[in-house]
Amino acid sequence: MQVVSELTDTSRLCLHTITTKPWPLEIAVEKYAAAGVHGITVWRQWLEGKSLEKSRRLISDAGLQVVSLCRGGFFPSANAGKRQEAIAENLRALDEAAAIGAPWVVLVCGADPSQSLIDSRQQIFDGISACLEQAQKLGVKLAIEPLHPMYAGDRSAINTMKQANDLCELIDHPFLGVAVDVYHVWWDPDLQKEIERCGRAGRLLAFHICDWHLPVEDLLNDRGLMGEGCINIREIRGWVEQTGFTGFNEVEIFSNRWWKTDMDDFLAAILAAYRRHS
Ligand code: ZN
Repeated sequence: MQVVSELTDTSRLCLHTITTKPWPLEIAVEKYAAAGVHGITVWRQWLEGKSLEKSRRLISDAGLQVVSLCRGGFFPSANAGKRQEAIAENLRALDEAAAIGAPWVVLVCGADPSQSLIDSRQQIFDGISACLEQAQKLGVKLAIEPLHPMYAGDRSAINTMKQANDLCELIDHPFLGVAVDVYHVWWDPDLQKEIERCGRAGRLLAFHICDWHLPVEDLLNDRGLMGEGCINIREIRGWVEQTGFTGFNEVEIFSNRWWKTDMDDFLAAILAAYRRHS
C-alpha cells in the first residue's frame, strides 16, 4: 500500500463555483480568497451577463488562479443542426476560457438517448475534432471528463478513463487531455492503470474530488463532501500524483443537501474535510 501525504495546506485547493451554488461570482471569489483557497474553476453560468475582462480581473486581484472553465461538450444529437449548434457553443466556451485566463475547458461529452452510444461516440469524436484548431489558436485545451455510466443515457457516452484515453489517442492532438473526477471513475477496476496511462501520455490535466454519498437520492445533485462516502480519495490522489501531476485538487460537489445549508459553514466543512479525507 502506497503512502500518500496528507494535505496540510490549501496551496493546491480549488473550488468549483457550483460547489457553493448560492454565491454569485463576486461573493465566491471574496470568500474563497479569505478562506485561503488558491484556485477557482468557473462554471459558465457564473459569467452570464458579466464582462469577461472584469471577471478575470476580479479573480486575479483576489489572488486566485483560474483552474478551468466548466463546461463544454454535449456534442451528440440525432439532429445535424443541433450538432452544429453544439460546436458553435463550444467555440464560444473556448473564447470565454481565453478571456478569463482558463487553461482548458472541461467537456461533459454528451449523449442523445434517441440514438445508440456508438453514434453518440462518433459525434463526440467529430465535435471535439472540429474545435481543436480554435483551441490551439487560443491556447486553451479541451479536457474530456469521463462520466459515471449512470449518465450514459443522456449526459455522456464516454464513461471510463480507458474510453477517454482511447479517444485522446485516436484524435492525437496536443490540446486534448482528460479531467479525472473521482465521483465518476472510483469504481473502475482499471482506474490505476488508466490514470498511469493518461499521465504517461502527458494528458492528465485536472483532478476533481468529492465523495459517493449513500443512499444516492438524486443522480446528479447528491454528491458527498469528502469523507461522507466510500471513495478512496486519498489513494486515487496518490495514483494521480505518481504520474507527476502537481495541479489543483478541485472540490466539485453538487448537493441539494449542502446547498440548503449556510454556505460559510459549508466552506468551513470543505476546508476541514480537505485536510482530513482528501
Ligand atoms: Zn468533475
